[in-house]
Amino acid sequence: MKHYALMESGAREVKGGGLAGWVLQGGRHFALALLDQLYPPACAACGAPIAEGAGLCPKCFAGVVPITAPLCPVLGLPFDVALGPDAISAEALADPPPFARARAAMRYGEVAQMLVTRLKYSDRTELAQFCARLMAGAGHEFWGARPLLVPVPLHQSRLRFRRYNQSYLLAHALARQLGLDIDPFLVRRHKKTRSQVGLSGDGRARNVQGAFSAHADALVRIRGRRVVLVDDVYTTGATVKAVTSILLRNGASEVDVLTFARVVSGEEVPI
Ligand SMILES: [Zn+2]
Repeated sequence: MKHYALMESGAREVKGGGLAGWVLQGGRHFALALLDQLYPPACAACGAPIAEGAGLCPKCFAGVVPITAPLCPVLGLPFDVALGPDAISAEALADPPPFARARAAMRYGEVAQMLVTRLKYSDRTELAQFCARLMAGAGHEFWGARPLLVPVPLHQSRLRFRRYNQSYLLAHALARQLGLDIDPFLVRRHKKTRSQVGLSGDGRARNVQGAFSAHADALVRIRGRRVVLVDDVYTTGATVKAVTSILLRNGASEVDVLTFARVVSGEEVPI
């Protein structure tokens, strides 16, 4: 963030032109070179040094499993073989979700876990930009409708403890990259829920039941709009289903879900 802020302010200064502009431009290059020394390019997941820019080291890159077609058009679960455009997963048929479509950039595994953990506990906004670029690709079917982006909220006390809502960081980065509106205050998590770690699917659903409520103005703000709900990880979907129901009850025409990672295997994962 500091990096970009400096670049932007530098560019504005240079518009002034003349000798001062030239000096500032030279100063900017010097400052950027200095920043590269202070913050050398590092792998977004493990922090190992990398050759340039924002990205992953070869080891982490090899550990990423992107979620690509063919997949269930509703839940976004990858299929082993293409079953035709209308084939829906057994999971979606057995338990139809309130949202229209869910998509995720990568399978939840070791590398995704490292990225999400860094996102939760550090202020490296370039990491959110990196994750959001992958999410923008995974949600490519969503953007034509110019949806409103809504991050899954954290409870106030947890926000104070962590200082960052990782879902907000992701939604904010997506909004900037795609030129979309974001409304982070539409939904509130008023009930302090216990951690979902170690809970079964039913337990997770019960845990988040009644945890969310809509802002008093929500009806006016989202009536008839398509919404894309943004979260870091899709596990059983309990949280995004609960928030989707609130959004639909308050007038959203349709809700899609976009997460950075998603659990595919169905195994219990300590998130
Ligand atoms: Zn790495």
